[in-house]
Amino acid sequence: MAESAKSQFEIVIVGGGAGGIGAAASLLKRRPGLKIAIVEPRDAHFYQPGWTMVGAGIFSFEETKRAEEPLIPRGATWVRSAVTSFSPDTNEVVLDDGRRIGYSVLIAAPGLKLDWDRISGLQDALGKDGVASNYKEGLAPYTWELVKAMKKGTAIFTMAPMPIKCAGAPQKALYLSCDYWKRQSVLKDIDVWFCNANAALFGVADYVPALMEYIKAYNVHLELGENLVAIDAKAKAATFEKKAADGTATRTVRKFDFIHVCPPQGPLDVVKASPLGNAAGWIDVNQDTMQHVKYANVFALGDAASTPNAKTAAAVRKQTPIVAENVLAFLDKGALPRKYTGYGSCPLTVERGKIVFAEFGYGGKLQPTFPKWAIDGLKPSRNAWFLKERVLPMVYWDFLLKGREWLTESR
Ligand code: FAD
Repeated sequence: MAESAKSQFEIVIVGGGAGGIGAAASLLKRRPGLKIAIVEPRDAHFYQPGWTMVGAGIFSFEETKRAEEPLIPRGATWVRSAVTSFSPDTNEVVLDDGRRIGYSVLIAAPGLKLDWDRISGLQDALGKDGVASNYKEGLAPYTWELVKAMKKGTAIFTMAPMPIKCAGAPQKALYLSCDYWKRQSVLKDIDVWFCNANAALFGVADYVPALMEYIKAYNVHLELGENLVAIDAKAKAATFEKKAADGTATRTVRKFDFIHVCPPQGPLDVVKASPLGNAAGWIDVNQDTMQHVKYANVFALGDAASTPNAKTAAAVRKQTPIVAENVLAFLDKGALPRKYTGYGSCPLTVERGKIVFAEFGYGGKLQPTFPKWAIDGLKPSRNAWFLKERVLPMVYWDFLLKGREWLTESR
């Protein structure tokens, strides 16, 4: 349905990405007559989990992009604007054209901010002179261009401090690039670095042994606690900062021929400046019910939420029916029936054709979807690759965004 002049809705959803569209579809499936507005400024929608595959020449960028309009569930109204402020005390959001929209329930799913400017010199360097990032819309094809062209020299892959979306994405780019270079017999001539700002290769220890095997096999220099702070594209030099236990920082400059950057990430400014954010700026919701801790008629899901899960589309898939049922119970003045157990997943593409399929919930508790004989998440798996390449894109476009709730049960 096209945008109308109405300014009061039963439910206003902010963000028409994975979480916003998924929540709208799940709500309308349960209660078709609901009056829902989806506020989303962009006319394109991206399957971001596909960008890792684009950066390795497996998917095309075009395959990951669709028009927003046909994705708006039938019955919902698309308000093609950005929210510039949240007024939860008056149950309104303010749009970039000054309009206000009132609601009975707000569902906030505006995603997070990729903070390119926090790395000096990066914004100007991106997309040329050997500086790539699968995180930047439209830039994954450049990653693949650089990977294909590289025959010798130094390649650096970086990872920003947590929390970031898809914490596996920086090392997925690393492994798939190394695998390609190995198949081309040039890996031995390339000095590969993984400079990870965090204290461990991966946040859930159970997956580290399988990943370490690949770090060794690809002969990668693994640097933990090294945070990228500056890029000098012309000099082809990246500066990293490492903090000692007593807080003293040392800087190391590393020259590169190719660098794949994972940008620092954080809450959007519009959320940070609102009463909805917690001290860090994430939308402050109860981690079980996804209901705001202060404003009972506000719910959040996806990357913008304060819940301490892996920020992934897989998490959104589990969260959507939970948010839908809890919102409907709230509207009906009932107790909230559903609880989220923190499921998120990271298909770590360790080589072309094999994946270490990390699936875990709050506290790093493993939450495998499949029996071990089908996919043993702790080992590289061909079935998991098939899932990532063939099944999960369909689960996203045709299930999550359409309210068909497959693979959404929590364990
Ligand atoms: P998004 O899907 O980002 O949607 C947010 C929407 O809000 C956007 O459409 C935006 O335009 C809109 N918006 C922003 N500001 C406003 C505003 N002020 N007003 C209104 N609307 C606004 N996940 C996996 O499950 N598996 C993977 O393998 C995986 N790999 C990834 C690889 C990469 C390189 C990247 C970048 C991400 C990957 N992810 C993966 C993560 C996944 O894409 C995100 O976690 C997921 O898209 C989060 O959904 P969301 O709805 O919270 O945010």
